[in-house]
Amino acid sequence: MEEILLFILFALTTGSFMYMLVCTDSNSKSPMGMIRRKIYSNGPSILKQLLGNKIYIKLQQFYNYVFYTNNRLGQIAYFLIFWMAFGLYSKFGLLKHFGNTPYVSHVHSICGSLIFLFCNYFFYKTCTTSPGIINKENNNEYVMQYQQYYDEIQYKQNTQCSTCNIIKPARSKHCRICNVCVSRFDHHCIWVRQCIGQNNYKYFLLFLFSHIFLSLYGVVAGILCLFGIAQKQQLFKLTYKNAITGEIHKATFLRVFSVISNRETFFMFIIFVCLIFFVTLTAFFLYHLNMIRKDLTTNERIRKNDFEKSFLNEMYELQELEKRKKDDDLIKRLAQLKICWKSLNNRRLLGLFEGLRIIFSQPK
Ligand SMILES: [Zn+2]
Ligand SMILES: [Zn+2]
Repeated sequence: MEEILLFILFALTTGSFMYMLVCTDSNSKSPMGMIRRKIYSNGPSILKQLLGNKIYIKLQQFYNYVFYTNNRLGQIAYFLIFWMAFGLYSKFGLLKHFGNTPYVSHVHSICGSLIFLFCNYFFYKTCTTSPGIINKENNNEYVMQYQQYYDEIQYKQNTQCSTCNIIKPARSKHCRICNVCVSRFDHHCIWVRQCIGQNNYKYFLLFLFSHIFLSLYGVVAGILCLFGIAQKQQLFKLTYKNAITGEIHKATFLRVFSVISNRETFFMFIIFVCLIFFVTLTAFFLYHLNMIRKDLTTNERIRKNDFEKSFLNEMYELQELEKRKKDDDLIKRLAQLKICWKSLNNRRLLGLFEGLRIIFSQPK
């Protein structure tokens, strides 16, 4: 039974790692962005060849269902992964070893469980706090609040959302999945089944941070437990005989590690799962902190990259044309593009602390 649970947990963890990869910026120069581009450019054709057309189409339909409809699969997956991981960690580590090894006392069972509850609380708050839905009544308020962000490139004044029949405030976006316009739209999160926007972004950050903290806590406490077990069982004093030469050697660190991993396989596996969570979530969290510093949302970052790409392409083409023939319209258009390019790249840096202060003071 435990093996099956561990297998499911491993599959789900790998799945969520892939999800994080998919979430990164398509034009990002980071390793995650590069892996994402590889997956997107080569993944579909490889899958099609491997699975055959029929299964591939079914898989595509399932993908569209998971990512582009308003369903509860993300929330269910979150509970499965998170509760299963905590349950297994408790069974093989917390209840079994905490308090029984010299380095991890029972205090950590209580602290760990409390942090687990905090994680659940922030998940609940992210799911249930409205992201800042724009309607006819509050439309003006939001337009005024983000007035300074109308740059006539990314955000043009007096544009309407044809579905909601409202004036689009700068930084807002109509979410196709939730079918509403959201203020300071960041992204639609399938785990919490709603958009992350102006009012719930702070809970989203706390949600990430609490899970990072818990997984790191799990890794550190786990390693200290294993170290304590090795000491208690006097594994560092073990000796072994070389089968060929007959010499007696003292146990190396690697040998102790292999003995421990034989005796505590499940516990080690679950520590490894915590480590995957820690690395993946930390990368995602740092990505968000960097955007907060630059006063950007995920949506703006993606749009900015797309804009830059098309600007650069058009500028390059016009410059090539200009070399061949001088034309007033051409020169005018090129000058226009250069001004756009400048204003797109001249946004002020907000700084991390000021960015966080603004986010945590919402809603006013
Ligand atoms: Zn709308
Ligand atoms: Zn949404």
